[in-house]
Amino acid sequence: MASSFSTNDVLTLSNWKIFEKIHIKNEPAMNIQQSIKKNTRTEVILAEIEAMIINGTLTSGERLDEALLAKKFGVSRTPVREAIRALTAIGLVQNTCRQGAEVAQISVSMLIEMFELMAVLEGMCAQFAARRATNTERSEMFSTHKELEKTFENNDHEKFYSVNLKFHDQLYAASHTQYLAGETLRLRRRLSPYRMRVTYQPGRMRASLDEHLEILTAVEAGNSEQAMAAARSHMRLIGNELEDFIASLSNKLQK
Ligand SMILES: [Zn+2]
Repeated sequence: MASSFSTNDVLTLSNWKIFEKIHIKNEPAMNIQQSIKKNTRTEVILAEIEAMIINGTLTSGERLDEALLAKKFGVSRTPVREAIRALTAIGLVQNTCRQGAEVAQISVSMLIEMFELMAVLEGMCAQFAARRATNTERSEMFSTHKELEKTFENNDHEKFYSVNLKFHDQLYAASHTQYLAGETLRLRRRLSPYRMRVTYQPGRMRASLDEHLEILTAVEAGNSEQAMAAARSHMRLIGNELEDFIASLSNKLQK
């Protein structure tokens, strides 16, 4: 294990294991089975592997063995290969000459840049949503916000994560953009293994609710500048907490 942790270091399995010990309680694994019944075999396998990356079953730098995965899911290698190809396109998986496909490794400085870009993209979605959201879209976002409050009160971590995503999905849709919404979604997927961990940090869920309300209020008022600022700072706070985590990790490792 490294004795110090710089921004150019790759987030490794051991780093994340330490982080998980500090911050993450026993959250349940994501249940993705229900929603994928109707989808094709490749989509099912893709969702399965993506969930394994997001919940940390497969960790950064870990090799994706086609044959092993095929056996695990009881399918042929073809859907596994196609799923790996799709995950490579999202950036969650990378190809190395030495050992083939592996869970993408990412440097801390790159991760911070990606969170910064995420803040800009979310801000743009919110900005357009404030100008273009229909009444129905606004009231749907408001009900999702109410639902999120309820999951927070019930301390339902798993549901909080998925309802939180639903709120953001609705925000992207309300922007009435196609390319922007698509790219925002793509980057969000790419960042999801890291975001999921941040979401569970103490205090983050409560703060998220307040920040969502700020975005929502600005969208309701049709105030695009304020909506953009609120959405940006919501994402930036997530990024900041990630930096705090990195700093805490560095202290821990230097002891
Ligand atoms: Zn949020």
